[in-house]
Amino acid sequence: MCSILYATFMTLQYERTMLSTLFIMLSGAVLCFILLLVLLSLCRTGAPGVKAWCVANGLSMIAFTLYAFGRQLPPVLSYELANGACLGSVAAVLVGYRHFFGYPLRLGLTSASVLCALAGVTVYHYVYPSFMLRTLIVSAFYATCCIAIGLTVFRARAAWTSRYAYLFSGTMAFVVAFGHAARGVAQAVLPSAPASLLEPSAWSLTALSASTFVMPVLTLGPLMIVHSKMIAKYEYAANRDFLTGALSRRAFWEAAAREIERARRVGRGLTLLTIDVDHFKRINDTYGHAEGDEVLKDMVLAVERRMRSIDYFGRIGGEEFAVLMPDTSLEGAAAAAERLRIGLAEDRASVQPQGHAAGARDYTLSMGVAELRMSDSFHDLMQRADAALYRAKERGRNQVVCEAALEEALA
Ligand code: GH3
Ligand code: MG
Ligand code: MG
Repeated sequence: MCSILYATFMTLQYERTMLSTLFIMLSGAVLCFILLLVLLSLCRTGAPGVKAWCVANGLSMIAFTLYAFGRQLPPVLSYELANGACLGSVAAVLVGYRHFFGYPLRLGLTSASVLCALAGVTVYHYVYPSFMLRTLIVSAFYATCCIAIGLTVFRARAAWTSRYAYLFSGTMAFVVAFGHAARGVAQAVLPSAPASLLEPSAWSLTALSASTFVMPVLTLGPLMIVHSKMIAKYEYAANRDFLTGALSRRAFWEAAAREIERARRVGRGLTLLTIDVDHFKRINDTYGHAEGDEVLKDMVLAVERRMRSIDYFGRIGGEEFAVLMPDTSLEGAAAAAERLRIGLAEDRASVQPQGHAAGARDYTLSMGVAELRMSDSFHDLMQRADAALYRAKERGRNQVVCEAALEEALA
């Protein structure tokens, strides 16, 4: 009687554990399906890599479903197709990252390595049946792809738009690689390691549960990365002038408010330089509006090349620009402006052969310089720099006028 009861109990226990493995696998499939839907929403952003990450989640969903019904399906579906989808999914994640960062995709090499790994799985299924060797092949492939993902993310450090998203993605790839390497080693050396994927043991349940987190973890990184890139793109568009890339008027004003507060707090000088292209209307009228645009872009590059990294350069409107120079005296800013004016003339001389007209690029700049005073608002500072600039125009253009010189002239 006791042995019958025990046998019934064990059968129920077995069935329950089998049910658990089924639910774990199906949960994995559902998670991948949800992530696939989330990724689909990013397709319209046109971000590179998103399609490959969609494919990865689709394949992973198929693999989990096939594993879940492994006992009911023909072996070629539950072994070869399931493992092929599983190997293909992690390879697709890697391809997505390479596409995202603009590296060559190497689709031929990637497909060949998936097929090689799958051939190994097939050999150790039909020719020399060995669950341990099949597991080793899949884990080694997974670990290699994840290491490649981690290295790809860290190699592209210069293109990171948010530290957190990229650190998360790279680190998680290494964590998954470590997990697969550990699983492979444990499968090879531990006598208690499972003898089949769906074996109803604690060991197997743990490995299966961990596997359901892998694709979500590898997909959340790309989701964060794409979002951070989109935010960076829209921030740039909001803060930059579309034509020249200089700070927009609004961003320049915000930076000025911050710098004025800082200059007052630390008691350091703050200087404003206003810049206006001379006879710009004539340039437009003579060479056309498009060439006028090129002059503005050329001028912005020339100024940015000579600015310090702490300076702010903004487009105030039309062909008027301004440079805000923190920790700079009036004399220092005037000297920098003069260097800029002379530098532009030297640039022109170096690109134009002797005796030839420089065309639209033969432009000059007039500049006005003013320094922040105790009671100044930014508006006051701007007005004084503008007054100096108009004085430079009156004096014949192509020159720098300081507000001090202006006051002397008025005295
Ligand atoms: P001044 O030496 O006194 O500054 O004369 P100016 O001709 O440079 O000044 P004015 O204010 O008379 O003309 C500025 C011109 O700049 C008029 C406007 O059409 C042109 N402009 C403003 N924004 C742009 C732009 O983004 N691209 C081009 N090509 N032209 C622009
Ligand atoms: Mg002008
Ligand atoms: Mg003007």
